[in-house]
Order: sequence, then C-alpha cells, then structure tokens
Amino acid sequence: MSTFRRGEWSNWAGNQRMRPVSFERPESESELSSLVERAHGRRQKVKAVGTGHSFTSTALTDGFLVDMSKLDQLVAVDREAMTVTVGAGITIADLNETLHGLGLALPNLGDIAYQTISGAISTSTHGTGARFNGLAAQVRALRLMTGDGSVVQLSPADGPLFRAAQVGVGALGIVTQYTLGVVPAFRLRANEGAEPLESLLESIEDNVDANDHFEFFWIPHTKWALTKRNERTSDPAPTLGPRARAHRWYSKTLMENYAFGAVCKVGNLRPSLIPRLATALPSTGHSTTVSESYQIFASKRIVRFLEMEYSIPREHCAEALRRLRAMIDDKGHLVSFPVEVRFTAGDDITLSTAHGRPSAYIAVHMHKGTPWPRIEAYFRDVATIMADYGGRPHWGKMHFLGRADLSRLYPKWDEFLAARDHFDPTRTFGNAYTANCFGP
Ligand SMILES: Cc1cc2nc3c(=O)[nH]c(=O)nc-3n(C[C@H](O)[C@H](O)[C@H](O)COP(=O)(O)OP(=O)(O)OC[C@H]3O[C@@H](n4cnc5c(N)ncnc54)[C@H](O)[C@@H]3O)c2cc1C
Repeated sequence: MSTFRRGEWSNWAGNQRMRPVSFERPESESELSSLVERAHGRRQKVKAVGTGHSFTSTALTDGFLVDMSKLDQLVAVDREAMTVTVGAGITIADLNETLHGLGLALPNLGDIAYQTISGAISTSTHGTGARFNGLAAQVRALRLMTGDGSVVQLSPADGPLFRAAQVGVGALGIVTQYTLGVVPAFRLRANEGAEPLESLLESIEDNVDANDHFEFFWIPHTKWALTKRNERTSDPAPTLGPRARAHRWYSKTLMENYAFGAVCKVGNLRPSLIPRLATALPSTGHSTTVSESYQIFASKRIVRFLEMEYSIPREHCAEALRRLRAMIDDKGHLVSFPVEVRFTAGDDITLSTAHGRPSAYIAVHMHKGTPWPRIEAYFRDVATIMADYGGRPHWGKMHFLGRADLSRLYPKWDEFLAARDHFDPTRTFGNAYTANCFGP
C-alpha cells in the first residue's frame, strides 16, 4: 500500500513521493465535485489516487490529492445484463469478495488484488489468457468528473469519448463509478511447475492456446521457467485441513515471498553471486490446486521491487525473449528477479496496451534495494529490444518514453488527445506524467 506520513505520500514501491497541498478523502460525488470546482476556480491541480501500486509518477500532484477509498460502495446489480455498478475507489480484493457473495466474478484478473478498480482500469491493468482481455474491457459504463467538476455518464454509445475514458491514465477526469460486466462465479485448477525455457518457447503458441490462463516466469541466468496453467473447472474446491493449509503457507508465503526476499537481499550485498543464487531460487516443484477464481488469480506480494512491462504483438514473443536472454548474458546484467510473460486478446480501447492486437506481455523486475544505475541500465536495454516490436509500456510501470514515441504506438492517439481537450481543457488533472506522455 501507499503511505501518507507528515504530509508526504509515497507509493508501494517507494520510488515515487509527493507533498500535495492537501490530502482529501471525499465521501460523496457531490463533495468531490465541490472540491474539483474549487481547484478549477483557483487554477490548482487535482489528482485521484488509488492504492499507489503504480511505479510511474502517474498519481503524483503538487495540488489536491484525492483518495477515493470512501467511494467504494456496491451501487447496483443487474443479473439480466450481468453487470454490477460500484464506486470507483473499491479495491479489487473487496470487489472480488462482494462479487463472490453474489455468485459472480470478474472473468480475468491480474496477479494481485490490492489495487483500486479505478487505478487498475486507468492504467490498462491485465492478467493472462489468450481469449480474455484486460480489466478495462469489462467497463460497460462509467461516471466521469470533468475538469470543472461536472459529471458525465459515458457508455459505448458515446463512441470515441467512451473508449478514451476506459483507459484514461488519470488524464481525462476522475471516475466516480463503474458499471462492469461480470460472469457467474467459477473455480480454477492451478497447475504450477518448472520447465526448460527453450522447450516452452518452441511450443509457445500451443501453450497459450491450449490453456485458459497461461503464464510463465523465466529465471535469468538459468534455463528454467516456472509455469502457471490455470484452467476453468467444475471440480469442487477441497476443504484444506491444517496440513494442507500449512503447505500452502510454506509455498506461497514462505518460499515465494520471505525466502525469495532473502535471496534477493543476499544478491544485493554480493551481486556476483546472483547467477549462482538463481539456480537455487525457491521452487516448490509441481503443484495442483483448485479454488475460487479470484483466490487463484491473485497472490501475496511482500518483496518490494521496481518493474517495467511491455506489451508486444503476440507472434514476436519467443524471438523477443531469446534476444532478452542473450542481451542479459552479453551485457553482464545481474538479475535476481524472474521475467514474467503473459498473454491477452486484442481490444478496441484507445490506450489499452492490447489495442488492435493479440498481445504478449514481458515484464522485468529488479529488487528494490538494487542500486538505480544497475536497474536503469537493464531496463533501458530491455526497452531497446521491445521498441523493435512496437512495444507499448504499461501506463503504471516504469518506462522511458515520451509523447513522440507513444503517439506512434497507438493508432487512435489523436482521439485520446481530443477527449482530453473535451473533458479537461484547462488541465485540472494534469501533472508531470501527463505532460510527458500527452503534452501540456
Ligand atoms: C505488486 C504489484 C503487482 C502488480 N500486478 C499487476 C498485474 O498483474 N497486471 C498489471 O497489468 N499491472 C499490475 N500492477 C500494476 C498496477 O495494477 C497498476 O499500476 C495500477 O494502476 C495500480 O492501481 P492503484 O489503485 O494502486 O492506482 P494508482 O497507482 O494509485 O493510480 C494509477 C493511476 O490511476 C489514476 N486513478 C486512480 N483512481 C482514479 C479514478 N477514480 N479516476 C481516474 N483516475 C484514477 C491515478 O491518477 C493514476 O494515474 C502491479 C503493481 C504492483 C506494485
């Protein structure tokens, strides 16, 4: 979670800080509206913030910082249309529990659930699954507070304005409510194991197509990848006895978090040991679990890191990964964190990282305690490879691109800029990040 202490806000990763003029937690849309109107009148800036799980400066402001956590209610359930309407500040974890109580679920999720639904949707957050989309594709309607404090309701009938607001990167306004498409609650069978990277890459298309939700983590300096294949199942979830619960805690909390964190810390102290430590990275071997979908999709993340993620056309995934592997060896980067690889279907959302193409996502991480020059050198070398495939950086994860590069990556870029001029002509919601990405 982000922290706010003695007037200073810091994000989850601890690499972004700000001192806003005030920290606001509105309890209603009308309270938020008065605040935005006031800021607009005084030409001050306003920024909505979720739980600070972005690595970029996207949520920073020197004006009013608006924490949306009190606008988190379930507003309506429409079982015929299979939609729910919720306050935009609800966390994904709370939304999952609420939906489960109603016998409903989101069809796909990312790998944590700490974020707000608005923060996640606004940055094009996604999970994995070649037949599934990112979270923004579930938006059926939204209420957007514009730069002067007025509110508009948007739906697909609003065409380009709606598609721009689906992934707004916090630049168009503050979303106060979403109506989201949902599905009946379902269970997943999670199969986890370790496989040689090269054989995975040779059959990558089959792996992606044959599984509902396929992903893998390649461990740099080794030939191994940890795989996750999540399949929809009607099998019941077993009731876990004390031994099974202890085993789950051992593999998910102790090994994947604390033991892994300890390995990363040793690597920070003695970077030259990283390749040897990588071969001993904690893996609990093959495991199979059946549970409710939202419990399988999201995991605990205790070890803090910095991350950069690129979306590239799916067909280039194997080649890009082979180049990444060779680059790490050639340049001598010492990388203690796995490279995560996921897949989604394409969509038509203006700034979705999967706009117009089935996508592969390649995410690189470095432990938070690693000196910045080492992180930057690695991330920049990865970015250079991804650029050759028209790579689009995740809006909430670190990247080095500005407006000129980004505008070439999105075919409907001008529609987004037009929507920004329409909803926020005076840039009430502007900050350094929006200026860098979209212009002043
Ligand atoms: C440990 C970890 C795991 C992650 N896993 C994944 C993953 O599996 N898949 C993936 O794609 N990403 C992942 N991310 C990235 C994360 O999902 C995004 O960065 C997301 O934006 C974080 O949501 P948040 O609530 O923390 O929003 P913040 O980071 O606080 O804000 C993000 C942006 O949303 C805007 N915003 C927030 N609320 C509103 C609102 N109501 N109206 C308008 N704009 C708003 C903010 O102004 C800002 O521009 C991960 C990040 C971390 C740290």
